[in-house]
Amino acid sequence: MAAQLRHTPWGGNVSARSGVVYLVGAGPGDSGLMTARSLELIASADAIYYDRLIPPGALDGARDDAELFYVGKAPGVSSVPQAEIGERLIEAARSGKSVVRLKGGDPFVFGRGGEEGEALRADGIEFEIVPGITAGVAATAYAGIPVTHRDDASAVAFITGHEDPDKEESALDWEALARFPGTLVFYMGVKRLAANAASLIEAGREAGEPAAAVERGTMDGQRTVIATLGTLAETVERENVSAPALIVIGPVVQRREALAWLERRPLNDRRVVVTRARPQASGLAKTLRGLGAEVVELPAIRIEPLLDSETVRSAIERIGEYALICVTSPNGAHLLFEALGAGGLDARALAGPQKQQIEEGRSNVGTKTGPVVAAIGPGTARALAAHGIAADIVPERFVAESLVEALAAVDVAGKKVLVARAAEARDVIPEHLEGRGAEVDVVALYETVPEEPSPEAIDDAQRADYVTFTSSSTVRNLTKALGERFPGGARIVSIGPVTSEAVRNAGLEVDVEAERHDIDGLVDALLLDAKSEPGRLGRSIGD
Ligand code: SAH
Repeated sequence: MAAQLRHTPWGGNVSARSGVVYLVGAGPGDSGLMTARSLELIASADAIYYDRLIPPGALDGARDDAELFYVGKAPGVSSVPQAEIGERLIEAARSGKSVVRLKGGDPFVFGRGGEEGEALRADGIEFEIVPGITAGVAATAYAGIPVTHRDDASAVAFITGHEDPDKEESALDWEALARFPGTLVFYMGVKRLAANAASLIEAGREAGEPAAAVERGTMDGQRTVIATLGTLAETVERENVSAPALIVIGPVVQRREALAWLERRPLNDRRVVVTRARPQASGLAKTLRGLGAEVVELPAIRIEPLLDSETVRSAIERIGEYALICVTSPNGAHLLFEALGAGGLDARALAGPQKQQIEEGRSNVGTKTGPVVAAIGPGTARALAAHGIAADIVPERFVAESLVEALAAVDVAGKKVLVARAAEARDVIPEHLEGRGAEVDVVALYETVPEEPSPEAIDDAQRADYVTFTSSSTVRNLTKALGERFPGGARIVSIGPVTSEAVRNAGLEVDVEAERHDIDGLVDALLLDAKSEPGRLGRSIGD
């Protein structure tokens, strides 16, 4: 179990130490609010014990061989008892593992981190605490409610609204809380809201004081309802606010009128379906989420590498002979280098004796040696750059025809050319190059195969405002996979004419077509459309 050594800008070795338990806060739900330290530890831990309320994708960075254990407690569902969690952490640490115990929010704020730390100390196990952003601070901030304010609140109290049911007497001093000169924030406060509010009012807190409930703070579908201390329980019940939710009481709640920001984001309240294959989807999904959209990932295709073929092996063996290498997708770029790696080679294999001068203005060849490398677009060029290759030719528009145009500057007659691409790609580029007298090797590095969408994702997609398509293969596969369950009411956004054609062939209508045929162009087109189209989720309620 060799811990990975990782080095940070501040120079330390931050890998998880073996035999140590890290009690780590994962923040309130938005994966962007996880700390750098938590991500480092997740990336290097041998074993991770995680709770229910951790952000989606929080464990994506874990090692492939890390052991992951769910030890969460869903309300009303039997779960791993607290004592057993402690025992398992101790056992894992004793066997020399580096252990991350990942909890929602902050481990010491209503997270039982204190108890777990005590149990570890009692058994002589070393631990470290990694704080996380607690819901009381995060959900409120996302709701536009400042927990303190110079004019309204000089103090804030974090209170549990749901105590240990075994306790005989309430530990909460309602008189003290009623007198508390500042904001009251209740965690776990929905179930007993009516009783707790009544206790506060009875103890002298003003029934007319502004109060809010923030549901699913920082997560997809965050919702804030506003009322007063006296009416909040009724509002929460009527609006069906459910856990996780935070109750906030105090004049600061009114500041939301001026400070609400989440609901102002351009794609707030819009549900957008992303149909790209998973590894590519993340960039688009992130951009859309950043604009406020709720994203449903419904990948219609999956990339299957085809590196174990005779054509690939022989192309890699002769990689030094090519005068020109054309790469037609980011996947192609990454897999080309994977294939080189499999052949015991790396980027140096591309440094050969050939050198071509390409027409002024079209090239950045300079004094580079080796083949001319052409990328179909900026994304592919970036993927090549990640492997140390600065593409010589990158057309502005990324369709095969533009690359063909740009290749006019390269002398290919009688030369060997490699086209690295997907199995089912169009033949525009090889045919053009052959027409100009090149000896072309077309090498399929991967194929795209249909992906079976999950029933949950299909359900989530039904109320989508938009379905985005970035290639014709996703259109064909998704419409086939969904059939009747294709979300009929959603507007269809296509990346460009070829994809639009596929949409129409599938019997659907294109509502929006991007002017620039790349991901940014698609997002711009969607944003423009969203300005004039109302959202369907209708979530901004209560105030
Ligand atoms: N350790 C966690 C709190 C765990 S107690 C932290 O520091 O945030 C669980 C309670 O926290 C929930 O019942 C709810 O009241 C609150 N909570 C956690 N995540 C929340 C979220 N995303 N939005 C609103 N409340 C949340």
